[in-house]
Amino acid sequence: MANAQLDIQFVTNRLGNQSIIHNGYQFRVKTRRDERVYWICTTRNCPATLDTRNNIPTKLPNGHNHDSHKVKLKVDEILQTIKKRCREETTPVPTIYEQEVIKLRNPEWNDETQEIVENLPTFESCRGSFYNERSKLIPALPKTRNEINLAEPWTVTTVGEQFLMADDGLHDRIMMFTTRQNLTHLTAADIIYGDGTFYTCRDVFFQLYTFHAFVDGAIYPLVYALLPGKSQIIYTSMANAQLDIQFVTNRLGNQSIIHNGYQFRVKTRRDERVYWICTTRNCPANIKYCNNIPTKLPNGHNHDSHKVKLKVDEILQTIKKRCREETTPVPTIYEQEVIKLRNPEWNDETQEIVENLPTF
Ligand SMILES: [Zn+2]
Ligand SMILES: [Zn+2]
Repeated sequence: MANAQLDIQFVTNRLGNQSIIHNGYQFRVKTRRDERVYWICTTRNCPATLDTRNNIPTKLPNGHNHDSHKVKLKVDEILQTIKKRCREETTPVPTIYEQEVIKLRNPEWNDETQEIVENLPTFESCRGSFYNERSKLIPALPKTRNEINLAEPWTVTTVGEQFLMADDGLHDRIMMFTTRQNLTHLTAADIIYGDGTFYTCRDVFFQLYTFHAFVDGAIYPLVYALLPGKSQIIYTSMANAQLDIQFVTNRLGNQSIIHNGYQFRVKTRRDERVYWICTTRNCPANIKYCNNIPTKLPNGHNHDSHKVKLKVDEILQTIKKRCREETTPVPTIYEQEVIKLRNPEWNDETQEIVENLPTF
């Protein structure tokens, strides 16, 4: 209470040094003796001193031989605010500086404001220390791809939706950024455009690959992927992961594609182009690939998805595999695999799978 009455303020700077502000003058510790502290004005050769006992002033200063430190203190305060914002916000550093300077104009422009602005260091003279603060917020740039360790908020959008959709591999690392909604647009598109850019890509990656498609009559970039190289394998695994496409080769060596629970087989191959058609007879849905990158995705199946048939096939394959590899009695293997279906939860799909599963 005494301190508030007397306009005395204790301040501790980031190095842990204490000072006292009294009437706009700053004092530093001269000597400490038990509970008594003797403070002197921070201006050299000023005779003003202040004594405290148990942090309560016992002697107040008089007779400063200079103007108050108000302007310097205000300048320090502004610089501290800027540094704090650099540590805590992602606003560009020069913008923070400008915003804090503009704030000075707000209440009213007077001689003191004028003097503060004149004493405020320029942005250029402080940029080093500002960016130093910013580096405490933003982790240092990784030197290799496996040093990258993204956590929130860098993996989500500003509204908290998942944005880092895929993060695969170490040395051959691929990182893909998109949203559920963008993927929905992408899968609905008849034509997907892909393009790699090298100049805007960080050194640790080879390129930034983007997928574009028409949405309501305009082309938008929908998926961004950081790629470690340019091989087709990379393009393919990237595109397929994004588009819920899975390549399957059966035991006879025939390839098929599973997309959203529908199965496709090769219709024709022409050089680097492959046309796939739905395995359901008379269904018009098809997929086109060029250089192992999907260039057209299917729409308009005229039937239910193949999910149940695919699941049944998978169960039969599992049973056959176990028959080859185990000595468990064959009927027991069949039973065990059927019982597994009950485990997660019984729903309409499970019901349908069991109904479609051939008897032993
Ligand atoms: Zn003084
Ligand atoms: Zn179909």
